[in-house]
Amino acid sequence: MALKDIIGQERAINILQGCIAKKRIPHAMLFAGDEGIGKRLTAINFAKTLNCIRVKSYESGFMSKDLFDDNSKLETQNSELETQTDSCGQCPSCVKIDKGNHPDVFIVGPEGDGGQIKVSVIRELERAFSYKPFEGNYKVAIIDNAETMNGEAANAFLDTLEAPPSQSILILISSRPDMLLPTIRSRCQRISFTPLPVYKMTDVLQKKFKDLDHERSLLLSTLSGGKLGHALNEDLIAQRDRSFNILQLMLNRFEEDSRDNKTSIEEWLDWVQVWLRDMAVFKATERADLLINKDREGEIKDLSETATLKDILKLARELYNIRTNLKFNLNEKLSLNYTSLLMRKRLGKK
Ligand SMILES: [Zn+2]
Repeated sequence: MALKDIIGQERAINILQGCIAKKRIPHAMLFAGDEGIGKRLTAINFAKTLNCIRVKSYESGFMSKDLFDDNSKLETQNSELETQTDSCGQCPSCVKIDKGNHPDVFIVGPEGDGGQIKVSVIRELERAFSYKPFEGNYKVAIIDNAETMNGEAANAFLDTLEAPPSQSILILISSRPDMLLPTIRSRCQRISFTPLPVYKMTDVLQKKFKDLDHERSLLLSTLSGGKLGHALNEDLIAQRDRSFNILQLMLNRFEEDSRDNKTSIEEWLDWVQVWLRDMAVFKATERADLLINKDREGEIKDLSETATLKDILKLARELYNIRTNLKFNLNEKLSLNYTSLLMRKRLGKK
């Protein structure tokens, strides 16, 4: 794969390809945007482009005979623009980067129990970056979930940012760029990644999965919030259906914890917000076309019948607070009992 195959991030990719075309590549970049929208994939394919042997060969007007046969030479010349700002995906360099064993490309991220990027990892990067590239044009470091650098790591990283080694590119990836040190943020060129619009994603999903009908593609697009990674990696519709079953069990059978072992309490509470959103919309407008879960119109209508709009909104706020406090070790069992009680009270199922 190459940059051209990444879906929905045309704007970010245009900026990156513009940098390559102008041969003005920032030493440090921050890829910012939600989880699951292609930041890491773009970073890897950008690193491939920077080090692609075909791009290099073309630019220097030299094609190594032992690397490519006549066919590939022809192919390269025919797609001049593409090879200049995108990787070929096939040369030894591209293949190594895809496999994660290129000596000049490093991908690091949080590790261990604390889920932090430790200072030892940054120091190791620093050491590796003190040498010139072994075989590529650039040394590239991709720091995934960069906001998880602990204080010591962030300070060490700041030193690297202040005196960037030549022929080196640092790419920070973060869905929470606000959690990075301002001094780190200000030294990086920010590239923003945005979720796909629903109509576009529906289109993409239908092209990818021929047996997916329009209604289901639309539902997946809406549920995933425009994050293609989520729509492709997870069985979102099944998760949603499970969450609704649990909600109904808790409402009707007075069981405090009806969760299956596949659903965490946090995950379930997130889904409940989606259902409450639909109930509130239906209560206020009586319009099924505005629902996220259009296919469950009947159930949403039934659930919202016995509640007032005010109570639905109040419940959404209360459950949001419970969700937030769970992070601070609020007792799970007590929280669920309380959630169950609140739901029955607000939704009129006494
Ligand atoms: Zn290549």
